[in-house]
Amino acid sequence: MELEIIIGLEIHAQINTQTKLWCRCSNDDFDLEPNTAVCPVCMGFPGQLPVMNKEAVRKGVQTALALNCKIPSFCKFDRKNYFYPDLPLGYQISQYDKPLSLNGKVVINVDGKEKKIGITRVHLENDAGKLTHEGEYSLVDFNRSGTPLMEIVTEPDMRSPKEARIFAGELQRIVRAVNSSEADMYKGQMRFDASISLRPQGEKKLYSRTEIKNLNSFRSLEMALNQEIERQRKLWEEGKPQEKEITMGWLADQQKLKFMREKEGADDYRYFPEPDLPPLELEEAFVQKLQNELPELPGAMRKRLLDEYQIPEERVELLLSDLRLMKYFEATAKETSAKDALRWVLSEWGEVEKNLEIKIYDSSVSTEKLTEMIRMISEGKISGKIAKEILNDMAHTEKRAGEIVEEKGFAQVSDAGELEKICKEIVDANPQAIEDFKNGKERAFGALVGQVMKKTNGQANPEMVNEILRGIV
Ligand code: ZN
Ligand code: MN
Repeated sequence: MELEIIIGLEIHAQINTQTKLWCRCSNDDFDLEPNTAVCPVCMGFPGQLPVMNKEAVRKGVQTALALNCKIPSFCKFDRKNYFYPDLPLGYQISQYDKPLSLNGKVVINVDGKEKKIGITRVHLENDAGKLTHEGEYSLVDFNRSGTPLMEIVTEPDMRSPKEARIFAGELQRIVRAVNSSEADMYKGQMRFDASISLRPQGEKKLYSRTEIKNLNSFRSLEMALNQEIERQRKLWEEGKPQEKEITMGWLADQQKLKFMREKEGADDYRYFPEPDLPPLELEEAFVQKLQNELPELPGAMRKRLLDEYQIPEERVELLLSDLRLMKYFEATAKETSAKDALRWVLSEWGEVEKNLEIKIYDSSVSTEKLTEMIRMISEGKISGKIAKEILNDMAHTEKRAGEIVEEKGFAQVSDAGELEKICKEIVDANPQAIEDFKNGKERAFGALVGQVMKKTNGQANPEMVNEILRGIV
């Protein structure tokens, strides 16, 4: 039986405000001791009242606009009731029937083809605390309690785990471009819940889905989906597709799915309007201003990199995955060329980064310094080979390329008299190579050039060496 795969995602992204969603505790608690970024509000003490963080609203709306959502003029907050030890209030303040935004879309690129993924809604809610289980007992850390989240829900528009991963990656790039979330998955700032079901090819109705909770990397997202597809495929082949909607967890250490429970419906949460917060009425001018201030988004950047610089597609994706790298690249490309910038910012720096473990934009090599070095190559002052060494030196010091060249005597030997002398020596010392070359072996010539370069520690101007040698042999 041909089965079609239906995937929808729900993404929680932590908004990068200074403070939490309802109180003034720090929202940057990653390195803090447990329970030090807390107050009576985010610990759910009786009688405390939440106060809306305006910056979180601003960033939420701007993200929704970047996802092409409509922003209704009115939205409200609701209590989502459930009991869990990391939720001191016994409810999460979320948005139910009147969310911040609706009906958006994102266009992703799947194997060179554009595909539209519908966005159902983006709404705001607070995060819960964090539980650590230690055998007999569990520890609760409330630092994360009350941090602002955007919940982004897609339509069931994805047709493979790969499409889901591509979408998730694009969403990460978008929230980073908007600067509404750092979306660092290692720090739990972006998490995925994936809903998946199968259906016979050609059918229109949706069958009971499985929701896989709390996937915290692109890899586990794709792996969990693949495993669940196989499980559901077997059920279909046995003629008894899944009847009830279920919730699964992902055991990251074992890379395995784990059945958790039958899926809860909205009724289970006893939603009701949050009485401690007034509804939000967003003025058109406020929304329009955020729309006007939207930065260039990954979709547009991708098009520009492909059209303007004619960069190979896989390099484009690499640049888009790191906006600071992208900015660094563009600044260098403008002063030199796209080709030179690709070589030095991506390939050659890649080698340096392996040892030094530092991104080029965080290193002592500024775009000005790199540009200066690249210019020295094109002006024939240094060879590309020497430049690699200079780049490495620059990465380890504060020095500029010019200083290193002077200190180490790296200047390219372009003195014709000197080069001629060396070439003659090499020719005299290698009669066999000359003989081979005269018999039509072009490689023998290359070997001679190589010897001259070796003799000059790579500092000879290769074009001049070529020319001189051609003249002699
Ligand atoms: Zn607090
Ligand atoms: Mn949620």
